[in-house]
Amino acid sequence: MIKEKVVIKGKFPKEIDGHVFHPDTLVAHLGFAPAWSDYSANVPIFPTSTYVLPSAEEGECAFDPDIAPENKPNFYTRFNGPNTEIAEERLAALESAGASALFGSGMAAIGALCEVFLESGDIIVHSEPLYGNTDRLFKQKLCRRGIHSCGFSSEEELKEILHTGSSVKMVFVETPANPTMKLYDISAIAEHTRSFLRHDVLVVVDNTFLGPIGQRPLKHGADMVVHSATKSLGGHGDLTGGVVMGSREHIHTLKSERGTLGSIMQPFDAWLLTTHLQTLSLRVNKQAENAGKIAHHLTKKREIERVHYPGLVKGMTSDSPHLLVFMKQCSNAGHMISFDLAGGKKAAFSFLNNLDVFEHAVSLGGVRSLACHPASTTHRCVSEDDRKKFSITDGLVRLSIGTEHVDDLIWDIDQALAKAHG
Ligand code: PLP
Repeated sequence: MIKEKVVIKGKFPKEIDGHVFHPDTLVAHLGFAPAWSDYSANVPIFPTSTYVLPSAEEGECAFDPDIAPENKPNFYTRFNGPNTEIAEERLAALESAGASALFGSGMAAIGALCEVFLESGDIIVHSEPLYGNTDRLFKQKLCRRGIHSCGFSSEEELKEILHTGSSVKMVFVETPANPTMKLYDISAIAEHTRSFLRHDVLVVVDNTFLGPIGQRPLKHGADMVVHSATKSLGGHGDLTGGVVMGSREHIHTLKSERGTLGSIMQPFDAWLLTTHLQTLSLRVNKQAENAGKIAHHLTKKREIERVHYPGLVKGMTSDSPHLLVFMKQCSNAGHMISFDLAGGKKAAFSFLNNLDVFEHAVSLGGVRSLACHPASTTHRCVSEDDRKKFSITDGLVRLSIGTEHVDDLIWDIDQALAKAHG
């Protein structure tokens, strides 16, 4: 008798006969049944704004706020749909999260976190520096809703804030930080937050720079993780998206508000994301291998004053905070490098204008290498004082390393550096 293939007729499960599948397998199969779509092996795209409801009773169930999102039928693309749900199941498997919610951009995801979990009178405590628009949201926008922010750049500063901050509702950590690569110890931050304050204070980590292959914040005590999916999760520079992962309860709350805010990712972007996630670990491991070689090469260049890369740990003493956090928390050093070029803005602009292989563009995490000048672009909206305080200097250049041949990338950097200092 031929065995009935559950994985063709029904959604691919997380385990079969007690065998639990690894994330690399789940990210290629989870949440999809070929029988849904004439046995197509690839996930098809469902470009529809609404769904036919089989009965009035199912229509009532779709709109019942007490029914969990995964138990509802597809009913309207502002709330749900197969493309977002397949990508969400796969993303949650990658971070070992209970569930995940996709948004139209990373900023839409961060904005929704603030909208849903913070109210007037609350304080959000955050690491420094932050991606420019996150900085702007926390420092310039939330105050209009009566929500105040307070930054920290060391564990000591965090402890001081927590001591006095009974209104603290969320601790938001971006690690490695954009663009300085500063690392924060997620488990220490989660522990301090819970011992100084109540257990209902949310610890949220922006894991855009390392992604689920390089760092798993939930395992280190975070309540929720947010990513700009525009970056390495998508990895090809062809989609814009954001995702929040966490417990089913937190994600259910976010999803019901997401329907009201109208900020869900669209089917085409979710479909692209599903396709690109299948190669995530191949891409990011190759990118990290290239970045490690390039970071070491940069340390030998006389034109460069400082190189910032999480994996540059050679020569650090065994009690160095950076080394300790890197060893404890990161399984990969990532693809992001920044460096301070002697000669300030003039040299940095000349370097960028002379690159041939690297594209001069903001964004990061994709298969093509990119370079940008944070002080005048991604971090332009950060106040001048803060840029100074967090060493986002005029000579700072940020590189996102792709999957091209590393010798070609090094050649490009060398020739552009020679021209910048020629
Ligand atoms: N978080 C970090 C660390 C980022 O670098 C960015 C964008 O560069 C974002 C969030 C925002 O993501 P998006 O551009 O998808 O809105």
